[in-house]
Amino acid sequence: MDYKKTGFDTKAVHAGDIHEPFGAVVTPIYQTSTFAFRDADHGARLFAGEEEGYIYTRIGNPTIRSLEDKLAALENGTGAVAFGSGMGAVSALFATFLGQGDHIISTSAVYGPSRGILETYFRNFGVASTFVDTSDPFAVEKAIQNNTKLIYIETPTNPTIVLTDIEQVAAIAHQYDIPVAVDNTFSSPVLQNPLDLGADIVLHSLTKFINGHADIVGGALITKDEETLKKLRKTMAYFGANMDPHQAYMVYRGAKTLSLRVLKAQENAMKIAEWLEKHPKIQWVKYPGLPSHPQHELAKRQMRGPGSMMSFGVKGGLEAGKKLMNSVELAKLAVSLGGVETLIQHPASMTHAGLSPQARQQAGITDELIRFSVGIEDAEDLIADLEQALDKI
Ligand SMILES: *Cc1c(COP(=O)(O)O)cnc(C)c1O
Repeated sequence: MDYKKTGFDTKAVHAGDIHEPFGAVVTPIYQTSTFAFRDADHGARLFAGEEEGYIYTRIGNPTIRSLEDKLAALENGTGAVAFGSGMGAVSALFATFLGQGDHIISTSAVYGPSRGILETYFRNFGVASTFVDTSDPFAVEKAIQNNTKLIYIETPTNPTIVLTDIEQVAAIAHQYDIPVAVDNTFSSPVLQNPLDLGADIVLHSLTKFINGHADIVGGALITKDEETLKKLRKTMAYFGANMDPHQAYMVYRGAKTLSLRVLKAQENAMKIAEWLEKHPKIQWVKYPGLPSHPQHELAKRQMRGPGSMMSFGVKGGLEAGKKLMNSVELAKLAVSLGGVETLIQHPASMTHAGLSPQARQQAGITDELIRFSVGIEDAEDLIADLEQALDKI
């Protein structure tokens, strides 16, 4: 069956399945570290890359491959490489494209640790980085240097919900022969496919929507071309940033219900955002589905839906925000996102506390900003929970 021709949900359920001799409907967990060769020549052919097969789980494993093929199908890519975590994927991406004397451009509000490794480890290795507001494609063009080797954008950003026009940034980058990688974690492939918009590589923290059940961490890179895929796989294997077969199985299973979860959470998010925007104790709501979002039109053009991530400000600043977080009963006070359960957190004191106040300000992470990851519970219950918590402020 050629899943290139089927719809998204058919791919999500079936793409990547292994058809093993006993007819198992589900890909088995190949919990093995190594694979026996049929004979010496077989081993030699595998090592020489003359025959497809498995050698050692750090390099590849059938269960992991099953997940990788599903992810490639969902992002309309050539192939995918899975990693032990999203940050494993980010690190391998940077290490593959950047060396001493090179330069990278990224989104100022990019995921904190993605910026963190560029400003520490990669800077120490002689890699320069520039962070710009990539929602302005001309700011990206202005930052390009002769040694720029990668443009790495995140859209929408975490937690500021700022969008970048992938098509425009890719068009600019390609004029200078610079590849573009997109962190698509916030949208998931249900709502946005960066490769179709001109990007060269897609990154996912599988921990979030794709696994969706807050019980595993994982990451992946999906590429448009075979050559980049090979380079990334080599980095993954050399760095030992591989996934474990059991972990791969969990994500493979979670991915089957991806669109059901994403669309239900999005439906909830729309109701909650509209309700919050009218609430007298709420200062502002940032959600791409609301006409008040400054990039509402871009969201409609670039994404198939506004998703389930939002941020909002409570009147009364940090103290009021703390009171809200301490008063919710259904929403869990936790970092991470994209799971079936609703999570609430305060970036300035939690996920982004490691950034300097200037970097936080540049990234738009104000003290009153609360991030809300809407789950698939009943919208009425989530609203009632927020209502009782806001009443206590
Ligand atoms: C969580 C996250 C990452 C990092 O992924 P881990 O699986 O936690 O290592 C990268 N980018 C975004 C947007 C994320 O939300």
